[in-house]
Amino acid sequence: MIEVTLLGTGSPIPDARRAGPSTLVRAGGQTFLVDCGRGVQQRLTAAGAAANGLSALLLTHLHSDHIADLGDVIITRWVSTFTPDPAPLQIIGPPGTAEVVDATLKAFGFDIGYRIAHHADLTSPPPLQVHEYTDGEVWNSDGVTIRVAPTDHRPVAPTIGFRVEHADASVVLAGDTVPCESLDALAAGAGALVHTVIRKDLIDKMPMQRIRDICDYHSSVEEAATTAARAGVGILILTHYVPAIEAGQEDDWRALAASVFDRQIEVGDDLHRVEVHPGVGAKPAR
Ligand SMILES: [Zn+2]
Ligand SMILES: [Zn+2]
Repeated sequence: MIEVTLLGTGSPIPDARRAGPSTLVRAGGQTFLVDCGRGVQQRLTAAGAAANGLSALLLTHLHSDHIADLGDVIITRWVSTFTPDPAPLQIIGPPGTAEVVDATLKAFGFDIGYRIAHHADLTSPPPLQVHEYTDGEVWNSDGVTIRVAPTDHRPVAPTIGFRVEHADASVVLAGDTVPCESLDALAAGAGALVHTVIRKDLIDKMPMQRIRDICDYHSSVEEAATTAARAGVGILILTHYVPAIEAGQEDDWRALAASVFDRQIEVGDDLHRVEVHPGVGAKPAR
């Protein structure tokens, strides 16, 4: 079984009830944090996880809302790992990730220096390893494999989606993308597809062109559901709601997805948890 927890279902727009984009995936005793938006560590704690227990940090792309708390994750893992010679944090993302991580370490350079000077058992900066990929297998450890494929969030490029597999269960995390063939292939027959969505019907009515621009490179609820149907996934999990779902409006969002996808649809707030069992998906929908 793979367990998916929506840690942050928000977007770049600050929201009192929603942390920034971030999803926790637990599979085969391993813990993966997918993106690390605003407030991710409060939600990690609430989900019974922590930065010092992550197997890897997976980044779909380098938009600020998806990496806002990268520095916090890196520093917190470093200062809260008490074993000598700790394993480096594995960070897997698209090309550009190493540059962002380097710049983040630089931004926290004073902090890192203060802590090394103060604590005798902290003798070097946060240990980490960055891996940049756009395609192929990126993880294979103790029965858990992870593959990536390009997505289409242009002009933001490159961007990637992840497919986590363990013992016949599988989950695909699309990140921000419009429908595209490489995502279809990555998601084919998956147990669950976690997809970021925006309500183009609502956003298109807003007066600010800068807000309407976001329709260009995101999937609507119906588009995400069409991808899920085409790929034959078992469960569609919606997240990154733009605009934020108003209380009582969840069924409207679900109905839009259900108009094109007739399997399980999950719409939830932060900390919404979905179990993905082996054998779910893997059949053509409709
Ligand atoms: Zn984005
Ligand atoms: Zn986003």
